[in-house]
Amino acid sequence: MKIIVLGAGVVGVAGAWYLARAGHEVMVIDRRSAPALETSFANGGQICAGHAQPWAKPSVVPKIFSWLGREDAPLLFRPRASWAQWRWGLRFLRECMPGRFERHSRTLAALAHYSLECLRALRAELALRYDQLERGILHFATSERDFRAMLRQAEVAGQEIKSAAQCLEIEPALAHAHDRVVGGVYLREDESGDTCRFTQQLARHAADRGVHFRFGDAIAAIDPRTGVHLADGSVVTGDAYVVSLGSYSPGLLAPLGIRIPVYPLKGYSVTLPLGPAELEAAPTVSLTDEAFRIVISRLGNRLRAAGTAELADYDTSVNPVRCAAIVRRLRALFPALGAVTTVENWAGLRPATPNNVPVIGRTRFPNVYMNTGHGTLGWTLACGSAALIADLISGRCPAVAFPIT
Ligand SMILES: Cc1cc2nc3c(=O)[nH]c(=O)nc-3n(C[C@H](O)[C@H](O)[C@H](O)COP(=O)(O)OP(=O)(O)OC[C@H]3O[C@@H](n4cnc5c(N)ncnc54)[C@H](O)[C@@H]3O)c2cc1C
Repeated sequence: MKIIVLGAGVVGVAGAWYLARAGHEVMVIDRRSAPALETSFANGGQICAGHAQPWAKPSVVPKIFSWLGREDAPLLFRPRASWAQWRWGLRFLRECMPGRFERHSRTLAALAHYSLECLRALRAELALRYDQLERGILHFATSERDFRAMLRQAEVAGQEIKSAAQCLEIEPALAHAHDRVVGGVYLREDESGDTCRFTQQLARHAADRGVHFRFGDAIAAIDPRTGVHLADGSVVTGDAYVVSLGSYSPGLLAPLGIRIPVYPLKGYSVTLPLGPAELEAAPTVSLTDEAFRIVISRLGNRLRAAGTAELADYDTSVNPVRCAAIVRRLRALFPALGAVTTVENWAGLRPATPNNVPVIGRTRFPNVYMNTGHGTLGWTLACGSAALIADLISGRCPAVAFPIT
């Protein structure tokens, strides 16, 4: 079949690779000049298969109210005259109800573990190098209260609980933190790496395998009968279309009467280039800071910290207050990084569903498929989702149980 993949983020490029490997003729269309220049550009870098959970959970509700109106809050609601925003917010609150979190966590965990297997196989097959580290992810708490909450969840999930001393053994760079680490949970199978580098390398391999990439082409509409309509007026036709346009997927599907609950959940990252003096002081194990809800990943001689969520529609501007809050926290955790003055600030729109479960599967049009809505876990879930959609389109039984739409 001739398949057109719409979008060259990590999800679209991985999809293209698996479809090509399944024997299809594949074309990828993206408005940018290269792969992974939007949300897949500078994310937190974590492959968190052991902790693939939705953000919507009962314990978040009281925190949301305490964060209201705080410019540096981990979750910020900027009210807009947008029905999509309010509807998504209300659905998110509904997903916080007990029982739902557990159900969605099981779904995500199955896909995330499968995805990690796929990623490892792909990395070995293609010798991909993207500043990956296979040193696990340490979730740490700096308050007794956060640690107790972490323990309750870890016991249910059967995760490895670590004392303060054990946390420092796993990541000695935390020993100088201004806020003392009181304990944590270690997911030793988890990994980290640069999504953008991964995606761009995979795209090169896909091109070598015959995948045709069209960059600089904005998609104006999809018509199941006539094809993909580009902004320049031309039309590209295929036997099937896979929508992987990240946060922009709902806008192109809506005219077809297909409504998906994907909303742009804005996040920020800061990247610090490390000089010779800081290389030793910076962590090498990927970290999740429970108190500030930021993730930290070492990417070669750079340190990336990412987090926070803002409901602000499609505003991609970088808010210096939110980036400065992340940098402040990094410096408090690793005082030796105080001398680093160059900081690359970035903002991206996570294509988020209220329960964080991506939208993968068919639509009511037999030739239009969706692989989108990966929210906070797009890097973690990309390879598994790609293998899944390729199986589905190729008429094979997917290797993982997932609620296909
Ligand atoms: C701050 C932050 C931290 C994160 N940290 C992590 C993490 O640690 N681990 C993890 O697993 N996930 C993380 N994520 C989530 C992850 O980055 C995303 O889920 C993932 O990048 C989404 O990939 P995508 O391919 O669906 O979307 P994108 O990367 O946005 O790709 C969509 C593509 O579609 C193209 N496009 C859109 N509209 C059009 C159009 N009309 N015409 C043509 N092309 C179009 C865009 O140019 C883009 O290239 C984080 C996200 C953020 C913002």
